[in-house]
Amino acid sequence: MLYSKYFLPTTKEDPAEAEVISHKLMLRSGMIRKLSAGIYTYLPLGLKTIRKVEKIVREEMNKTGAIELLMPSVQPAEIWEASGRWDFYGKELLRVKDRHSRDYCIGPTHEEVITDLVKNDVHSYRQLPLNLYQIQTKFRDEVRPRFGVMRGREFIMKDAYSFDRDEAGAEESYWKMHAAYCSIFKRLGLEYKVVEADTGSIGGKFSHEFMVLADTGEDQIVSCDLCDYAANLEKAEIKQDLKTPIKKQLLSIEQVHTPDKRTINEVSSYLGKNPGDLIKTMIFIADKEPVAAIVQGDYEINHAKLRNILNVDMLEPATPQEVMNAAGCEPGFIGPVGLKIRTIADNSVKSMDNFITGANKKDYHLKNVNTERDFKVETFADIRNAEAGDLCPRCNGILSFKRGIEVGHIFKLGKKYSQKMNASFLDQDGKEKHIIMGCYGIGITRIVAAAIEQGHDKDGIIFPDSIAPFNVIIIPITVKPGQAIDKAFSLYNELTAAGVDVLLDDRNERPGIKFKDADLTGIPYRITVGDRGLAKGILELKIRNQDNTTEFPVEKAIEIIMEKITLNI
Ligand code: ATP
Ligand code: MG
Repeated sequence: MLYSKYFLPTTKEDPAEAEVISHKLMLRSGMIRKLSAGIYTYLPLGLKTIRKVEKIVREEMNKTGAIELLMPSVQPAEIWEASGRWDFYGKELLRVKDRHSRDYCIGPTHEEVITDLVKNDVHSYRQLPLNLYQIQTKFRDEVRPRFGVMRGREFIMKDAYSFDRDEAGAEESYWKMHAAYCSIFKRLGLEYKVVEADTGSIGGKFSHEFMVLADTGEDQIVSCDLCDYAANLEKAEIKQDLKTPIKKQLLSIEQVHTPDKRTINEVSSYLGKNPGDLIKTMIFIADKEPVAAIVQGDYEINHAKLRNILNVDMLEPATPQEVMNAAGCEPGFIGPVGLKIRTIADNSVKSMDNFITGANKKDYHLKNVNTERDFKVETFADIRNAEAGDLCPRCNGILSFKRGIEVGHIFKLGKKYSQKMNASFLDQDGKEKHIIMGCYGIGITRIVAAAIEQGHDKDGIIFPDSIAPFNVIIIPITVKPGQAIDKAFSLYNELTAAGVDVLLDDRNERPGIKFKDADLTGIPYRITVGDRGLAKGILELKIRNQDNTTEFPVEKAIEIIMEKITLNI
């Protein structure tokens, strides 16, 4: 590609709207432009990078025997009603009406479409197992679209769906995808970690997220310093203390005046206690029913764990009005004593005695509260967030935290969709059975942002070779007719003919400007062609992620570049 003929609008200034480095650099390097909140045009340079990510994903998916198809973005409401998700999906689902007032949505995911397809076309065990995938544009009306294409509203995803006869087959399909994802992220050249993820209402151990490690990641990853245990904070288990707690002498309950003291910190410091001497009570609405959850004051309640324990689809913190309805008191003074709703307690509460809770009365708390004597706990369970320094649930190691960007998610769906939408097959034993499904997503556009979060410096992007939009940039020091531009063109032609993606910066600009743009766009290899060097028979090579430049003989140019490129992918 000739730079002068290309569409590569780079900018010097940092765009004000961008909070994270990948977003800034994608805008500055002319990869993307915003059309509307969370909706971007992929400019040629951005699209080229996206296509390279897609190529790796496609190749690794095909290797597993998965088969590509392409489903529509616009999906009729009926199939979402059949799966029960038309109401459940909430505001993230962009709903539209056609001219006949029929309801449609713009697909945020494709379980419904694929199940509908397979239900109509797969009838026999002979057609299974099957894994179908697509690379396609999704739309999710995210509450907070941000960080550019990292959390867009419109984005590109690879989504695969597996269909199996039985559990054993479904597990095999799952681990095949797990292995394929590891190959994909390795080839992409990203530092990643596979973590256990929340399985929601499906339960079981079959959900993993693939996280690219980066400080700006929205996800918190908990991992052990000794073994390979790693989990999303949503899922990270707490090691249970199996000893029976020894209770102190139970003291009489006492009401204390705590004017305007609402938070754990305010109340504990006002009463001269530690946050761990208090109990935090939160009211949730679980599938329309109010439920109280309690945890030791210095811990946080984990919503995903609580939702799984309650076995509900929807779990939301109660609004102040809902708290008032359930406890007869405003938030800040809520406690389990005298509450007339279900109470779920974290295991941390088991060993506590004579603790402090809200009194369900404005400006008052209770001292010396004890479980059993003062209120009834329906279930004790692990419903708190892990904390740095907690013991590993698998070994004697210690848990610590890292941040990650979720780039892939694999999930066993079981019969969730096949039962609701009645996708069944006739098994060898003559019985009609529901198909067992799995789903496997990779955020194609998010990967590009994640790669930049991991690979950049003060001058711009440092792309891994595997997804760099161009492998090589050739910069002639001058474009005036002469040796330098001629040599630049001949190199360009030769490398291009050898299948290398080359950008020749033939703009009539100062070399300094060209070097800056080359650094900004993250192209791994830069060859500088100057008259002075040519007079000595040499060219200059700068590798983007190294500081120094090296000189090499002109006649070796092709050989050296070809060697480096194949070496690094
Ligand atoms: P998140 O928790 O980040 O919202 P998710 O759990 O909703 O992700 P999935 O439904 O599992 O995501 O989608 C599969 C993949 O699609 C994710 O792993 C991620 O890489 C990508 N993805 C999801 N939402 C977005 C988004 N808003 N913008 C860009 N990529 C996304
Ligand atoms: Mg999401």
